[in-house]
Amino acid sequence: MKDRSIRSRIAPTPSGFLHLGNVFSFVLTWLIVRKNEGYLLLRIDDLDSQRRRVEYLDDIFSTLEWLGLEYDEGASDTEDFLKNFSQELHLQEYEKLINDLLEVQPSLVFACHCSRSDVQRNSINGLYTGTCRNNKIRKADPSTWEKEVAWRVEVPSSPIVFQDELKGEINVYLRETMGDFVIRRKDRIPAYQIASLANDIKHRINYIVRGEDLIDSTAAQLFLAQVLPKNSFVEAKFLHHPLLYENQFQKMSKSYHSLSIKKIRERISTPKPIFRWIAQQFDMNTKVVSLQELLEELDLAKIPPALYHPDFLLRY
Ligand SMILES: [Zn+2]
Repeated sequence: MKDRSIRSRIAPTPSGFLHLGNVFSFVLTWLIVRKNEGYLLLRIDDLDSQRRRVEYLDDIFSTLEWLGLEYDEGASDTEDFLKNFSQELHLQEYEKLINDLLEVQPSLVFACHCSRSDVQRNSINGLYTGTCRNNKIRKADPSTWEKEVAWRVEVPSSPIVFQDELKGEINVYLRETMGDFVIRRKDRIPAYQIASLANDIKHRINYIVRGEDLIDSTAAQLFLAQVLPKNSFVEAKFLHHPLLYENQFQKMSKSYHSLSIKKIRERISTPKPIFRWIAQQFDMNTKVVSLQELLEELDLAKIPPALYHPDFLLRY
């Protein structure tokens, strides 16, 4: 049965060259949306000005084009992105979300003066221990608004519970996995969790496909969404797919890690072997060599519990 109301997004970050794990995520998202004749947005999370580079943006567009992954909305190339879509152009929308949060539950947000080394020194597991929790944000008190102060939210001690399309019920104890997280950075720029959530709400995204490494982020965003005035995010579906491993026993070693899609694109002229590899992960006919064939034959019930890097790509 098709669900034409599905709205999803591909949301890469231009902080490095894409690798095969990203491609799996993009193709899976595309397949789920197109199979349902839903809506697909390309969003690029570029608020991390320290790590973003134009060549990484170019890599995102070149990779999507090489794979033939079209989308319904989003920038067409790097120039279009920088001119019309960069998250820096939408800071007011993210700030509004923070203000909404302060409006509905001011006791949740506090100003934190701690440096990175302060946090490390006070913590046994690297997580923020809540040192500044009593320092609530007050409009009349400039010390809570001034520069060099980050804004954090106090996370609950009870778990955030949600359903995952693959794994069933997931419980995340944010106090143990993430701690009180930053929503406004010291440079006053809204943090990733805020920008991502604001964007998903704006575009009424209701089906989010992302890697297992983002389960804690999903919980953090759901926590904020549940506090905020009524919004679509609280009803979104989530699918956290497996990450790419070198083999059963280890995560990716350096030789695999350095194998960017950019290098693969330079070595093989067509993405056919990649589509064939994806088909194999789904227990599908290994003669599959195109996106269209994947779309026709894909059985979404067969999303693999684990993903292993194909050796053949190292031989090119
Ligand atoms: Zn602090």
